[in-house]
Amino acid sequence: MEQFTAEVSRIQDLTHDVRTIELRLLEPATITFKPGQFVSFDVPKEGQPRPVTRPYSIASSPGQGNRILLVLNLVQGGPGSSYLFGLRDGSNTLFKGPAGAFYLRDDGARDLLFVATGTGIAPLYSMILAQLERGQSQSVTLFWGLRSQRDLYWQNELAALASAHPNFSFVTTLSRPEPGWEGATGRVTALVDARVPSVANLAVYLCGGSGMIQDVTARLNAIGLCPVYREKYYDD
Ligand SMILES: Cc1cc2nc3c(=O)[nH]c(=O)nc-3n(C[C@H](O)[C@H](O)[C@H](O)COP(=O)(O)OP(=O)(O)OC[C@H]3O[C@@H](n4cnc5c(N)ncnc54)[C@H](O)[C@@H]3O)c2cc1C
Repeated sequence: MEQFTAEVSRIQDLTHDVRTIELRLLEPATITFKPGQFVSFDVPKEGQPRPVTRPYSIASSPGQGNRILLVLNLVQGGPGSSYLFGLRDGSNTLFKGPAGAFYLRDDGARDLLFVATGTGIAPLYSMILAQLERGQSQSVTLFWGLRSQRDLYWQNELAALASAHPNFSFVTTLSRPEPGWEGATGRVTALVDARVPSVANLAVYLCGGSGMIQDVTARLNAIGLCPVYREKYYDD
């Protein structure tokens, strides 16, 4: 794995606890990665003599090799997210990468289904951008689970992608919507149940907490066999 020095070129708060951090690469000046892969930061942890390592998926498309975009939520007291939330515009940082076996595969003509909870959207966003840039015709569907309206982000960006690419569609479902939400409600697992009658022509990518990954995998296995790729962010 290579080590990179980068400068924070843009920070954007997307919700009360999610932000994007764009890193402009300084040395080396470009990175080559597969959509879905992650980079790792060694960060200090209080009370520990040695740094701890935390991985973060690259959310941007590999087509853009001199900058990477991270999207992450603040975990109170967590060393990795606190370190990254502490970076300011113009700060320098170091990371290693790219790494990881969760990347967009070539599954021929299979339609693609992406399922995320929370910031599990990160690697899927990179994959979706890369897939749509390739201009292939199979359908690309995203099911994304968030908690409530205040947790929503990237809805306009996804809607713009969907209008530019007729083969792309997405459904955002809220597990605890406030009154006034007219979209899907409940867990992403329920969306899979309701909207995926067959896996015969499907390749599936799952990213987020362990509960969702287990539940969705079980539902898919119950209806048939297809390639299923998973990235577990944390145990819930
Ligand atoms: C391959 C990989 C890629 C990852 N990419 C991303 C990414 O792109 N964006 C991102 O936000 N996170 C990502 N994560 C999670 C990230 O690495 C850290 O685990 C997370 O930021 C918490 O680390 P921390 O040091 O701040 O807190 P810690 O003290 O390590 O975590 C405290 C607890 O918080 C919980 N937790 C961890 N992550 C989350 C989360 N995202 N939401 C809610 N609770 C959580 C867990 O139960 C954990 O035990 C990724 C994890 C893996 C394995």
